Amino acid sequence: ITEKIEAEADKPCESIDGCRMSLYINAGLSAEVELDAGQIGAGVGLYRTEIPFMLRERFPSEQEQVTLYRQILEAAPELPITMRTLDVGGDKPLPYFPINEENPFLGWRGIRLTLDHPEIFLVQIRAMLRANIGLNNLQIMLPMISTVSEVVEAKRLINQAFLEVSDEASGTDNVISRPKLGIMLEVPSVLYQLPQLAKYVDFFSVGSNDLTQYLLAVDRNNTRVASLYNSYHPSVLGALYDIVQKANASQTPVTICGEIAGEPAGALLLMGMGYRRLSMNGFNLRKINWLLRKVTLSECKQLLSLALTSSSQQEVFTHINEYLETKE
Ligand code: PEP
Ligand code: MG
Repeated sequence: ITEKIEAEADKPCESIDGCRMSLYINAGLSAEVELDAGQIGAGVGLYRTEIPFMLRERFPSEQEQVTLYRQILEAAPELPITMRTLDVGGDKPLPYFPINEENPFLGWRGIRLTLDHPEIFLVQIRAMLRANIGLNNLQIMLPMISTVSEVVEAKRLINQAFLEVSDEASGTDNVISRPKLGIMLEVPSVLYQLPQLAKYVDFFSVGSNDLTQYLLAVDRNNTRVASLYNSYHPSVLGALYDIVQKANASQTPVTICGEIAGEPAGALLLMGMGYRRLSMNGFNLRKINWLLRKVTLSECKQLLSLALTSSSQQEVFTHINEYLETKE
């Protein structure tokens, strides 16, 4: 089966009945490796910038960040590269920036931390904008947004960084461009504010890993409750379905970059829901491409309605496995 998958690796991702899908990769730790392997699909849907920060002993300087981001942007200059601003806190500690909290997943993480430390945020945005000079394939994405005012404040800082970098470039040939801005949808409150949020951003990206944790009130890393953490819980699927419908209604492009997008069962359900952009670990890209070329959109929609009316994730899997067996 691996050979069959390889043989079709370069074929466009399109279902039998003509539903075209764009597959992106998630990168971070091994971005260079993933990009070198040429398995980049339609671009990078999520570059987790906190990973290089976590591997260092101190905050990387602006110039170090420029060099790092430039390498990533240059690896695929013709494709969009979505860089997420620092998402530390929660499960992602920085050794040189200790945070002690009773409840880290509900605490100071992602955008909350960087808005409280604008000097960290501004340096990162400045570095991204400088790295993007002459390439213009950068997109910026904000993690852990829970309310509109966070987007407004982040945009104010991004604008400040833009003006600074533009100012510095005046008198040179460098043209500073404004990258597209998106937010992660991973805190449940945003489900009910999508039209308001859409006014401020160019795109959405669903973080189903955190959305699952917050919807089900299950710590994504606690082994005691691991059996309760499941993105195929019918409620989570219902939320994902709701999001894509609302995003489409506000004509805001939406990607999904949580783990579910790179899983066969997930990819089928997401296509059935109406998602057309999936971002996943690079090693899943070919398999998902192969699978989606074997199915029809109408079958995926049928599977979705079975899943949404199931009473448990086990029942969802039973339906999907029965279907997948017909494809092998
Ligand atoms: C997510 O929450 O689904 C996500 C993609 O981000 P991370 O796993 O880095 O929190
Ligand atoms: Mg997340």
